[in-house]
Amino acid sequence: MRRSVRNWLRPWPIGILMLLSGCGSNTKVMWADPRWSPEERVELTRAAEFWGVASKGQAHVELVGGPTKPAGAIPVLRITEEMANRIRWDPQVVGSDHNPGLFGGDKAILILPERILAAANLETIAAHEFGHSLGLHHVGSHVAALMSDEGPELFAPFISEACLSELDGAEFCRAVDCERGVRRCESQAQ
Ligand SMILES: [Zn+2]
Repeated sequence: MRRSVRNWLRPWPIGILMLLSGCGSNTKVMWADPRWSPEERVELTRAAEFWGVASKGQAHVELVGGPTKPAGAIPVLRITEEMANRIRWDPQVVGSDHNPGLFGGDKAILILPERILAAANLETIAAHEFGHSLGLHHVGSHVAALMSDEGPELFAPFISEACLSELDGAEFCRAVDCERGVRRCESQAQ
């Protein structure tokens, strides 16, 4: 009895269990609140899938729906102007934020679609915010980066190619295990 317990506590079975259940730190579950329309949900799903492809499967962002947030999932909330005013949240440029600290200290992604500039779109903005959830920080105001803190119109080229710029790739490898490297863009935006 005692011996079997000791065997169970060896580190390797725990590592295998984590792998099988997909609960490693590179997996993030996002909950899309019911206010998102079916069309918007498609864009959010594509943004989530972007990270799986661009990271060569080393990061996994899963978008789930349903009336209530599953435990542990990060809420992706569709905010209106009225709601933004009520919580005194004032996104200046991209209409989104990834850690407003408004929900009992839990992380949340807030997106105010009405404020997303014409040059960007929901899919691009969501991919940027999901990047933050994976632990990526801004890579400065370099124009050719999805994780730029510059204008969102600059994020877009990476989404269609499902690739990361050199700066984004370096930031990904800083934040996440990247033994396989990342899917680098062949045609950099600049
Ligand atoms: Zn950002």
